[in-house]
Parts: sequence; C-alpha cells; structure tokens
Amino acid sequence: MPKQLDPAMKKALSARVNYYREMGIYDFYRRPVEEGTELALQNVVSPEAHEPIPGNDSPMPMAPQPSSSSSSLPMIQDKVAALTAIREHIGDCTRCRLHSGRTKLVFGVGNPNADIMFVGEGPGADEDAQGEPFVGRAGQLLNNMIVAMGIRREDVYIANVVKCRPPGNRAPEKDEADTCSPFLMQQIDVVKPKVIVALGATAAKNLLALNDSMLNMRGRWYDFRGTKLVVTYHPAYLLRDPRQKKETWKDLQMVMKFLGLKAPAKPAES
Ligand code: URA
Repeated sequence: MPKQLDPAMKKALSARVNYYREMGIYDFYRRPVEEGTELALQNVVSPEAHEPIPGNDSPMPMAPQPSSSSSSLPMIQDKVAALTAIREHIGDCTRCRLHSGRTKLVFGVGNPNADIMFVGEGPGADEDAQGEPFVGRAGQLLNNMIVAMGIRREDVYIANVVKCRPPGNRAPEKDEADTCSPFLMQQIDVVKPKVIVALGATAAKNLLALNDSMLNMRGRWYDFRGTKLVVTYHPAYLLRDPRQKKETWKDLQMVMKFLGLKAPAKPAES
C-alpha cells in the first residue's frame, strides 16, 4: 500500500509544485525513496516561507556543480533547484523602475536541460498578464518556428533580457537591462544550452554587449559564456514584415545543422 502523506506535507508539496509551475517547470521525476526513509519536510516548505527581502544583497546563487552520479536525473534536479534559487533571489523585485508597471514578473519557461535557449527582449501585455514569456501573437509565431525545427516548446528554454514589461512595449533602457541581465546570465549558466538564439537586435546587443546592425550580427556564430550564440529576427518583427521569415529560417537551419536536428516531413497533400 502506498504510504499516505500527512496533510501538512501534502500542502507543502502542492505549494512547491505550484511554485515550479509558475516558473514554467512542468516535468517532475520521482526519485525512489528507500523503505523507512522519511522525507525531510524542511526541504519542501512553501515558497512564501522563502520570500527574500526585496533588494537583498545576499550572494547570488551559483550554477549547479556536476553531480557525482552517472544518471542525468540528479543533474536535472540540481538545475531545477538552481533555477528556483535564482527566482527566489529575484523575489518581489524593485531593483529597477520597470517593477512599478508589472502585473507578473516573467522569469523564464521551459526545459532546464534544453539544448536551445531563446532570448527575447522583455514581456509584452500577454506575458505580463500570464507570467510566461512569448505567449502572445509573437509567442505563437515563435512556437511555430520551434515546431518547424522538429522540436517542441517544452524542449527549449525561453527567457528575456528584462523580466518586467517595459511601458508601452518600448525596448528596455540600458540601466534596466543592466540591472536585470545578471539573472539572465545565471539562467544561461544553469541551463547551459548548446545554442542561444537571440531574438532581435535588443536581445543580441544586450547579450553580446555590441552595438551592431542586424545585418552584421545575423548569419554567424558567436562564442558566448561557453556556448554558441546566433542572432535572428524577433518574431514580433516578422509579424510586421513576414518577408523576413525566409531569412529567419536560414538562421534556424544553422542551429538545426549544428545540433543535428531534422525538420519534420511536411504532411502529404491530399
Ligand atoms: N516579446 C519578447 O521579447 N518577449 C516576450 O516574452 C514576448 C514578446
């Protein structure tokens, strides 16, 4: 007979699962627990109990160290824990002026073990309302781009340069991006994707600390924080100028070739 959880443990676990969901983590793995071993309740406390003091200057959480186990599951759990620590460190952030117009902070979403990480500019209205990046029209197009690469949205990790919506969807200002991007760098260091795709000039310029044109930045590989980075058009720009989709597809094909991904076969015409 499976052991019944006591109500306090059940409540704490449910709060923790909801918290992960808010961070866009949906997949959980069950680790076998040896007979007679009690789960440590202190590791399953509700997120509220962890709420950091806004602006707190405690040391930044570190990226996880490689696990000694040969299994990849502990590594995934380490990554989930490290992303959770980053989210908790951000807390109810007031570090820059963008916090005042925020409904929900948009941390990032996806597979903590993703090979590909897409980085956009900042949340729009839909993302601000839902707390998840790229869920509006541009997000739908991004989803289509991901599917065209032969993978699913759940396979990649998606984040933005800034985590709060800039007013009127303007681009983030330098001080806002400078304040927020250390958290993005930590997310990159935890996920350690094989490829980062910078969506649009704002993401590319902020990540690469470059002030170059899209024309010069596209179509080539950059080495960035021990990973490869490629620049392509932002899906919102593609909605305004669909002729550039062909160019974007060339950029994505560079990524697919590098990762050995194959585009799915087109369904046969009937
Ligand atoms: N545009 C972005 O740059 N990021 C989002 O999350 C949504 C739209």
